[in-house]
Amino acid sequence: MSLIVQKFGGSSVANTERIMRVAGIITDTYKAGNDVVVVLSAQGDTTDDLIEKAQELNPNPSKREMDMLLANGEQISISLMAMAIESMGFPVISLTGWQVGMKTDSNYGGARIRKVEAERVQAELAKRKIVLVAGFQGINKYDDVTTLGRGGSDTSAVALAVALKADLCQIFTDVDGVYTADPRIVPDAKKLDEITCDEMLELASLGAQVLHNRSVEMAKRYNVELEVLSSFDRNPKPGTKIKEAAKMEKMYISGVAKDKNVVRISLINLKDIPGMAFKIFSALAQKKVNVDIILQSIGRDGLKDISFTVDKGNRDLALAVLNDNKDIIGMEDVKVSEDVCKLSIVGAGMINNPGVAATMFEALASAGINIQMISTSEIKISVLIAEADGDRALKAVHEKFFS
Ligand code: ASP
Ligand code: MG
Repeated sequence: MSLIVQKFGGSSVANTERIMRVAGIITDTYKAGNDVVVVLSAQGDTTDDLIEKAQELNPNPSKREMDMLLANGEQISISLMAMAIESMGFPVISLTGWQVGMKTDSNYGGARIRKVEAERVQAELAKRKIVLVAGFQGINKYDDVTTLGRGGSDTSAVALAVALKADLCQIFTDVDGVYTADPRIVPDAKKLDEITCDEMLELASLGAQVLHNRSVEMAKRYNVELEVLSSFDRNPKPGTKIKEAAKMEKMYISGVAKDKNVVRISLINLKDIPGMAFKIFSALAQKKVNVDIILQSIGRDGLKDISFTVDKGNRDLALAVLNDNKDIIGMEDVKVSEDVCKLSIVGAGMINNPGVAATMFEALASAGINIQMISTSEIKISVLIAEADGDRALKAVHEKFFS
């Protein structure tokens, strides 16, 4: 007998038919003799709808009241699911974040989990009940409701898996696993049987929106075995397992991802003197602007250019910081390019395989795609290219590595 934590996303419980299908998956797991803890998200677009309702009343509601509101979506899901499972004749109980001791800090709207006091869950499991838990929500030291940030139910599930020492944490979603590329753009993308936590983290941040990043970080830290699989099959097929590197046979490239959420900022005609990069990037860091790819030109006549990329959401903040510091930095001009995207290949096996970068650049060259910037890490190579070339580049690079 195993203890299994299963998490079902909003689309998996969006309507009555889907709730009944998921109830079937849950009770099958229970019937097989396992202890089952289930974390649910709010149905379909419920969270977005609640945000919209709030906006109609107050464009600037307090974060505490927003959390009070948004936590309701998950509570609807768990109580409805409990009723569905009751109707099938199984012992079941639904519990909120505070009832399962999901203790968080007070950062409303993006709370971090401090600890899970899981005695109540354990007591219910000891009575052989299926335990349904509201995802995304917790409680702070003032006994106020908090939420973990959008998509936070994955993190609720992993935190419970850690606290309960679960054997497996299954994340059910509307895709049947993690692919070598976005299958909507690259039709012959393949499903991966397994992937490392580090690769998954890179792919998630590259826009492969499968799992909440914090959930993968937590799974890595506490060594929780994760599996991503589809809830649309009444008898789910094996999905993608996310494991520590040591436990698997490494493929040298796991995936190719495109990220449109970037802008390039270039500082033109800076003095070519020591300390310039320090001035720029420390000013940005102080305001918590995350910089990704950086490129510095070779000096000419005592001048140079520095370009870097930031997330689209950080564009205005980055420009404000540069403007506030323009006397210290002393650039002649600032240029912003919006029409760019970042293409990355990720693979834990890259470290031991020379020539991966060359293969990627060859694919881009054959497709006639110009590279504007390059950055590399142990398990990732990223290039910045024109946004218009994005899909073509994704297909070309994917084909080079995977067919
Ligand atoms: N319902 C929340 C959201 O839509 C949490 C989640 O789905 O994980 O962001
Ligand atoms: Mg959701």
